[in-house]
Amino acid sequence: MKTSAGRKRKKKSGCIIIAGCGRLGANLANTLSNIGESVIIIDKDPDAFRKLSPSYGGITLTGDATEISVLHNAEIEKASAVISLTNHDSTNIMVAQIAKEMFNIGEVIARLYDPERECVYQEFGIDTICPAVLSMKEIDKMLPTIPLGLTDEEVAE
Ligand code: AMP
Repeated sequence: MKTSAGRKRKKKSGCIIIAGCGRLGANLANTLSNIGESVIIIDKDPDAFRKLSPSYGGITLTGDATEISVLHNAEIEKASAVISLTNHDSTNIMVAQIAKEMFNIGEVIARLYDPERECVYQEFGIDTICPAVLSMKEIDKMLPTIPLGLTDEEVAE
């Protein structure tokens, strides 16, 4: 299997758990399902699953993704990756820490709205994505005549 960047991705046997079926979570779940990955998406609001496409072939689970019982129902112990994309940084961090520390999941990603928290949690070995930081990088690329003065590390991240 190849990623959109043309890189080869080794398909793993476990499923991918996504917490939060918002705009990004639903989009990612649809995309992963379309390329043949097993996906379980969790949201506390059952209406959120309406955002999934009719072709979505994964599982939906209603519940709070920070609750261990909900994660057990998602069979987190068998997951190959956990991606937490709810609209709360603290929830995403909690889900990521549970996945990493209690269930030893190798690939764990948390979305963080607050750029200052991003560096802190990267130190705990949790991969984070921060929309504000990503947007700054894209704006910097689109404005070549107005250098924003981002550091090399900020651009390379
Ligand atoms: P969005 O802001 O569009 O990315 O949507 C975020 C989604 O995360 C919404 O559908 C929320 O219902 C969902 N969400 C927020 N907190 C939790 C939680 N603790 N467990 C599961 N889903 C959640």
